[in-house]
Amino acid sequence: MSCLFCKIIEGESPSTAVYQDELVYAFADINPKAPVHVLIVPREHIGSLSEADTGVAKRALLGHLLCVAAKIAREKGLANGYRVVVNTGPDAGQSVDHLHLHLLGGRGLSWPPG
Ligand code: AMP
Ligand code: ZN
Repeated sequence: MSCLFCKIIEGESPSTAVYQDELVYAFADINPKAPVHVLIVPREHIGSLSEADTGVAKRALLGHLLCVAAKIAREKGLANGYRVVVNTGPDAGQSVDHLHLHLLGGRGLSWPPG
């Protein structure tokens, strides 16, 4: 297995868990860009959002990822707001080819992003 996030999910690489269930694993970003920076990933290896389709299985999984982001944001006390980012492909700077949501919060976030 060469995928870093698959290794993290399997416990073969270390991480600081934030949330987990049968579909999803969430952990602290190793290089946080905000006071709260959590990565939310499906346990199933999906390379990027560009592999998503509107089939029922993906629909449920991708919806669940967003719901987990909202749950973690509530638990982290991000009542003032937060951002969920899904970098997809080279133009967006995706550096790990396993679909992941960034949950960023705990400070003001400028817009538009770079
Ligand atoms: P992206 O650039 O959108 O693909 O995001 C990849 C994220 O993974 C970056 O924010 C990295 O800081 C983070 N990252 C890389 N390696 C690790 C690791 N071993 N543990 C936790 N986060 C990581
Ligand atoms: Zn993977």
